[in-house]
Amino acid sequence: MQGKRQVAVLGSTGSIGVNTLDVIARHPDRFGVYLLAASTSTQAMLEQCLAFRPRYAVMVDELAAQALREAMPGELATEVLAGQEELARLVAAEEIDVVMAAIVGAAGLPSALAAARAGKTLLLANKESLVMGGRLLMQAVRESGAWLLPIDSEHNAIFQCMPVEEGALPSLKGVDKVLLTASGGPFRTWTVDQMRDATPDQACAHPNWSMGRKISVDSASLMNKGLELIEACWLFSLEPDRVEVVVHPQSIIHSMVQYRDGSVLAQMGNPDMRTPIAFGLGWPERLAAGVAPLDLVATARLDFEAPDESRFPCLRLARESVAAGGTAMAVCNAANEVAVQAFLDERIAFMGIPALIESVLDRHGGGPGESLEALMAADAAARRSAEAMIEQGVGS
Ligand code: NAD
Ligand code: MG
Repeated sequence: MQGKRQVAVLGSTGSIGVNTLDVIARHPDRFGVYLLAASTSTQAMLEQCLAFRPRYAVMVDELAAQALREAMPGELATEVLAGQEELARLVAAEEIDVVMAAIVGAAGLPSALAAARAGKTLLLANKESLVMGGRLLMQAVRESGAWLLPIDSEHNAIFQCMPVEEGALPSLKGVDKVLLTASGGPFRTWTVDQMRDATPDQACAHPNWSMGRKISVDSASLMNKGLELIEACWLFSLEPDRVEVVVHPQSIIHSMVQYRDGSVLAQMGNPDMRTPIAFGLGWPERLAAGVAPLDLVATARLDFEAPDESRFPCLRLARESVAAGGTAMAVCNAANEVAVQAFLDERIAFMGIPALIESVLDRHGGGPGESLEALMAADAAARRSAEAMIEQGVGS
């Protein structure tokens, strides 16, 4: 066996980051941790450094980096660095083989792009970076020869169900369309009137998955499925009309691929992110992930229904922004990030999320999004508009 594969975990203190380190810890002979990165959670990072002894720990927040430096025991050889730019530079280090991109939001784009440009094996959980900069990221992957393995459970399932030729990424040979499954979230059966009064804790109480708060709210509004629709289009070179969203409340089927001959292949398993994470880390081998085996008899039934876009307008807004193209998806993503944070801070109502995104999209539409600078500018402008609109009472 070759030497250990050196892994960088970006967003290591979050839900995906912690699950990634859980899988890595099960295979100490295969993986070494070279770099850990997070935003502000110093204590969690310190504990991870003690357990995994990375060469570098990056805190994007300067004050958090300072606090971590002071707390780091002298015998540990971990160097503490600060800032987004330092992170994007370090991710390209020659010593790194695999990068888990699990920062939340558009903030994850520069480091994911740096990993793609450096030709790393990129395990992509950070869907917002594809939504915002899909063209740029996919182009970087093609040009550098990087491997891009989707970690989002649906896209990982699609990847597993797509035709693969040896040594190559999936092709669309014989594929009719992709069936993207959605749990429907905690408000699947709620009326619009009920959702108007929904609280952040209710929105974050996902029936099947335990996740960070931002993606949990996205799941409740179905914007998560909208972002995933865009993600699927970029990852698999699909037109949006070849991606059909199907609500499947049990979250046992993680998505499906429908072939020309009528075959539909599904990937199933318990809703545990360690399955797609282990798939990405081990690929093309299969690794033990600590996931409980699927008990189909206990599951008993699998249900399916169509999504209701009148109660969940975020799905329509995401479709409209793919159709508009260019920077529209970056605008949609940025408006959503501001709206979700404002909802979590109880500044707007739950149904204010789609209202705010729609108003921001109306104002900004889409322009050409060929460069990182253009995307960052569209992202910043959309955030400013969203904030100004919240001040004016939009969404409350
Ligand atoms: P989380 O909120 O639990 O963790 C986010 C991590 O990112 C933390 O380590 C945090 O320190 C770091 N971070 C936050 N802002 C940052 C910034 N500006 N710069 C650098 N680091 C920053 O989030 P999560 O649930 O783990 O989700 C991470 C990503 O994975 C998201 O894009 C999400 O959509 C995607 N994803 C998550 C799940 C899941 O089950 N949690 C499933 C599919 C996809
Ligand atoms: Mg998902």
